[in-house]
Amino acid sequence: MFSGPPDVFAHGFSTRRAGVSEVPTLSAMNLFSSRSRRDPVAVVTENRRRLALHAGFHPLPLRPGQGIKVDHANAVWVLGNPEPERYDAMVTDRTDVVLAAPGADCMPVLFTDPVRRVVGVAHAGWKGTLLGVAMETVKAMVGGFGCRVGDVAVAVGPSVGPCCFTLDRAEARAFSRIHPDCVPDPDSPRPHVDIRLANRLLLQRGGVLPENIHDDASPGRRAVTLCTSCNPQLFFSHVRDGAHFGTQVGFLWIPGGAAVGGAVGGAVGGTAVGGAAVGGAVGGAVGGAAASGRLQAPAGTPETDGASAAFGSDDVQSL
Ligand SMILES: [Zn+2]
Repeated sequence: MFSGPPDVFAHGFSTRRAGVSEVPTLSAMNLFSSRSRRDPVAVVTENRRRLALHAGFHPLPLRPGQGIKVDHANAVWVLGNPEPERYDAMVTDRTDVVLAAPGADCMPVLFTDPVRRVVGVAHAGWKGTLLGVAMETVKAMVGGFGCRVGDVAVAVGPSVGPCCFTLDRAEARAFSRIHPDCVPDPDSPRPHVDIRLANRLLLQRGGVLPENIHDDASPGRRAVTLCTSCNPQLFFSHVRDGAHFGTQVGFLWIPGGAAVGGAVGGAVGGTAVGGAAVGGAVGGAVGGAAASGRLQAPAGTPETDGASAAFGSDDVQSL
C-alpha cells in the first residue's frame, strides 16, 4: 500500500519534560496559555521554540498558534480556505506547515495519506469523539485532496485511558451505543469510558482500515497510546491535575526542506524524530530509529515520545 518514499512525514508527541514552565501543574513543557490557564507567553514561546528545535521543525511555527479555538466539536479547517472561527481539526497538503493538535487527556490524533501526501490533525475529547471529529478529518482529506480512505493512516497520541476516564451515566450511554465495550461498567454511578475505542470504531465504520489505526488496540502490536492520567511524570492531565492543567501536543508536517535540519529520514541532531511511520511504514524508517531504545536528549531540550510509540513499537521515546 505504501508507494511513496518512506520518509514523507515527520511527526511526534510532546511530553511535559524539559520545558521552562514553573507552575506545578504546567511544569515544565506547557505549550499553551490562556486567561484561565496562566503561563507567561514568553515561557510558552520558549517551550515551543525548544520543541521546534528538538523535533526538527525550527523555525517553522506550530499551526495553529496561541489562538487555537478548540471547540470540542467537529469542524475541520482545510488550510487555504477561510479560517473558521472555531475548529478542532486541520488538513493540508502543503509542505513545511507544522500542524499541531493539543491534548491533556483529549486525544491528539494525527492523519496521513502517503499516496496523496496529505496530513491532518484533530483534537478529540469525549464530545468531539461522539461528534465524529476524527472521521470528519478523514472526510476533509478525501473531499479536499482526493485521498482514498483506505490509504489514510491514523495515530492516536497520549490521552486518558478507560482506566481513568469516567462520565455520568447519561453521557456514558452515548458511548455504549457506539459499542458496549466502550463502557465496561455501564451500571456504575460514574461509568468508565474508552474514548479511544469509540474513536477507532467510528473510524473503522467510516472505512479506515483497522491496521492503519495506531492506538492501544492496534492489532498484533502492543499498546502504544499511553494514559495521560496514569503517567504524571510524562504527561499533563486535566482529569488528574484539575482546571489549571498543562497542554501537550501531537504534531506533524510534510518536510519540504525549510526546517533546520529537516526531519526527513528521522534524524535530527543525532537523535530520532518520528517520521514517516504513518502510512504503513510502521517499524520501518521510524521504528528503526526511534525503537532502538531510550535516546538521550541533550540537556535543556524537550522530549517527545516518538512516532514509534504511536506507530507500533516500544516505550515512550526520549528524542
Ligand atoms: Zn489511566
